[in-house]
This record gives sequence, C-alpha cells and structure tokens, in this order.
Amino acid sequence: MLWSALFLLSLLPGLSHGILLEKFQDLKRNKFDFVVIGGGNAGNTVANRLTENPDYHVLVLEAGGSNENVLLSMVPKFCVETIGSAIDWNYTAQGGPVLNRDMDYPRGFILGGSSSVNCMIYTRGTREDWDRYANVTGDSGWSWDNIQPYVRKNERFTPPFDGHNTTGEFDPSVHSFDGMNSVTLSGLRHQLDTQVIQASKAVGNDSDFRFVLDMNSGNHLGIGFGQSTVLNGTRSSSATSYLGPQYINRPNLHVLLHAHVTRILSTGTAKNDLTFQGVELSQDSGATVHTVSATKEVVLSAGSIATPQILMNSGIGDRKTLTNLGIQTVHHLPSVGQNLTEQPLLSYNWVVTANDTDSEAARNATLAAEQLKQWNDTRSGPLANAPGLDLGWFRLPANASIFEEFEDPSPGPNTAHIEIQFVNGGFSLETPLPNLIGANPALLCPTSRMSHSFSS
Ligand SMILES: Cc1cc2nc3c(=O)[nH]c(=O)nc-3n(C[C@H](O)[C@H](O)[C@H](O)COP(=O)(O)OP(=O)(O)OC[C@H]3O[C@@H](n4cnc5c(N)ncnc54)[C@H](O)[C@@H]3O)c2cc1C
Repeated sequence: MLWSALFLLSLLPGLSHGILLEKFQDLKRNKFDFVVIGGGNAGNTVANRLTENPDYHVLVLEAGGSNENVLLSMVPKFCVETIGSAIDWNYTAQGGPVLNRDMDYPRGFILGGSSSVNCMIYTRGTREDWDRYANVTGDSGWSWDNIQPYVRKNERFTPPFDGHNTTGEFDPSVHSFDGMNSVTLSGLRHQLDTQVIQASKAVGNDSDFRFVLDMNSGNHLGIGFGQSTVLNGTRSSSATSYLGPQYINRPNLHVLLHAHVTRILSTGTAKNDLTFQGVELSQDSGATVHTVSATKEVVLSAGSIATPQILMNSGIGDRKTLTNLGIQTVHHLPSVGQNLTEQPLLSYNWVVTANDTDSEAARNATLAAEQLKQWNDTRSGPLANAPGLDLGWFRLPANASIFEEFEDPSPGPNTAHIEIQFVNGGFSLETPLPNLIGANPALLCPTSRMSHSFSS
C-alpha cells in the first residue's frame, strides 16, 4: 500500500518526554511502593490512580518505547497499519484443531500498550455481560450498575472534530463528560455510513437490523453510530490520558521505557511464603540484568500474552510445563497460560462503483499525501476518524441448529453473538486495489479457548 511508505517515514523514534525515562541509570531510586509491569491500558490506569496519593512512589516498567510523536499511533485511521509494524509485538497464534492455520496476533509494543495501536472502538459490553461477571465471581461490585461509576470516571465524551450537532447519534444520559479518556463520534461520514444508518431506521423496531440510539447503554442489539476513543482527531490512549501532561509530572510517578521485565522475584522468607516484591528487567536483551523492588505490591499488567509468560518465567505455572522448560517451580498453578478467549474478526469486502472510498487513498499517493497534510494542519479529514463508524450487534436466531449441539454461550437474550463493523475501504489482493466497502463480523462469544505455548 502507498500508505506504508508514509507510515514508515512517520515512525520516528519516540522522543523522550523528559519525564519518561529511557535508561535504568536515570532512575533516582530502585525501591518503590508499587512497581507496575506493563504500561498498557491497565498499567497506566493503575499507576495514575495510585499516584493520586503523593506518598506512594510508583514505577511503570514498559518494554516498548514512547508513544510521543509516533504518527502511526496518533492518526486514528492508521490503526490497521500498526499491525506488523515496529510498535506491534508481532506475536503469532498457532493453528490447532479448530483453526488449522497460523494467524498474526497483534499487541501494542509501545507506551499505552494495545490502547496505542487498537482501533479505538469504544464498547462497554452489555448489562448482561457485567451481571454475569458478578454472578461468576460472587462479587456484586462487577455488576452493570456497580461498575457504571468507574465507567464514567474513565469516560469524557467530547464533540467530534467537525463540531457537528450530535443529537440523535447517541444518548447523553448514559455518558460522562468529565472523565479521563476521550470518547467521541465520527466527524466525517462517508455515504456508506449514512446509508447504513438510514436503512436501520427504515426496517422498523421488530427487525434485527433496527436502529439503536446508543450501543453503550447496556442494551446494544441493532445498528447504530460507533463511538471511538479519539480526541480532536487524534487517538486517546491510556498513555495520552492517564499519563497525560497533567499527570506525568507527578514527582512520585516514574516511567521507564525499553524495560523488558523477565521475572518477578520471590522475596518470601518462610517456606510456602509466596511474596514477590522483586522485579527483574533488562534493557539490552539480557546482557545486563537489573532489579527493582516494591515495598507494597508488584502489579503485573503486561497483557494477556506477556502476563502468563512472566509468571511462568518466575516459576509460577504448571509444574510439568515448567520442568520441561527447565524452570524451577515456585508455585504450581496449572491454569497459568490457559483459557485465553479471543474474539476473531473476519474481513468481508465488496467492490463498489463509488470512487470516494478509503481504497482510493490507498492507491493514490497524491490523495494520501493531501489527507495526511489535512490531518497534520487541522486534525481533521478522513484520517481523523477511527475505522468502523457504524456498528451492528446481532444474535443468532433462537432456533439456530447450533444450539441443538451447544449451549448458548452469550450471557442473555439481549447480548449479541456477532458484531459487524461497517467500513468504507477494505483488503484485497487485486491490483490496482478496487474501490471497496466492508462489513467485518467479529465472533463475540467463542467457545474455543487458546493456551500459551512457550519454547525454552
Ligand atoms: C490491533 C488491535 C485492535 C483492537 N481494537 C480494539 C477496539 O477497537 N476496541 C477495544 O475496546 N479493544 C480493542 N483491542 C483490544 C484492547 O486494546 C486490549 O484488550 C487492551 O488494550 C488490553 O489491555 P491490557 O492492559 O491488558 O494490555 P495492553 O494494553 O496490551 O498492555 C500491556 C503492556 O505490557 C507491555 N509489556 C508486555 N510484556 C512486557 C514485559 N515483559 N516487560 C515490560 N512490559 C511489557 C506491553 O508492551 C504493553 O504496553 C484491540 C487490540 C488490538 C491489538
């Protein structure tokens, strides 16, 4: 794609923020109250909240580099291009009995983690989803009603970049306007987006394809306007919000980049004392190993792949697997690295006669450069929107034959089995790339599970 050359040029090395430390030697201490492993979605949120208390010194250890000035991460429309780039861990999911081929498994390798590379679609799940978490855990704090104050603490609904009147595009009563992370509606709509919404309004309320005013109200079934974590035409990630300029200067918040954590270290003094307050890391692929310690807690938030990997490296996992890898077992915990659930997404495309789709910019260098200039100058235009401007949430029919064999895996009758993202543009191996529109379904309630396989 022509975009690729621009993207490569745009991958400037992350410029140091000044507060974001690049070298272990720049840390002023090696003992903290909390050490947070992984500066991603979860890690940066926790670090922000903990450092509200000025007495707590918190260190965030992030394996990737800074998100600052990384255009590939900043420009919403470039999100798909982050896959396979230098800010992706470039994992591979190996095929198995269900999926008999390998697939790319992207995860963010940059401050902000996958929130710095993802496609920014803001979805809360349904009331039924959260109420099921509460039931399964036996903790009512996870219920939809009880989680809403925290959802609102996170969300700051902001106007779309073109400032248009958004009445009828979302329900303000279910949103917050003073949280941390910006959520917005699209500022520029393609005719496809308009037609999808018009069709959903035309089919009537009995149809599965009916219009839903706000898919983040707890009931999402139908088709509606997508909401995305974008602020003024630029990605809003956990790095730009929770480590944003008003927080990163906190003297008790320390962030070390290029810090690849290899293990957490047992500091227990008695037999069976499972206290882990040491953290081992390297910035040069293991040539030099450093340790830091947490007097209160180590927070392990390295994402769904690296968290179990670090646990297993540290001797926490299934004894047989660890022994095969030559790792001494500190704590036999067979579930580590098991039961990973993923929501696979397929890309379905149709060739169209319209010549104003995103495919046009993908094959036309002049147009691509104009769009990038517009984004650079005004943070507007086609690049300022995340993909997936309209979304649909659908259930399989109640009498679908699959339910004769399998129990319905969804948490209830108001929760979708399938999400469809409507996009203008798409993927094709044809050259030149034709004008395409896409409807990309994602499987929301898979019953298959993945497990980690590590080689020594
Ligand atoms: C391509 C893509 C598109 C997505 N699209 C959407 C979307 O549109 N909407 C949505 O809601 N979700 C989306 N997601 C999922 C969402 O981004 C993740 O669920 C979420 O970011 C997970 O948060 P986390 O904190 O668990 O992990 P992450 O945000 O991935 O953070 C983990 C952090 O740990 C760091 N790390 C890993 N190993 C180590 C180590 N050894 N030492 C130090 N640091 C380490 C990583 O570099 C990373 O910064 C998408 C994800 C991807 C990859």
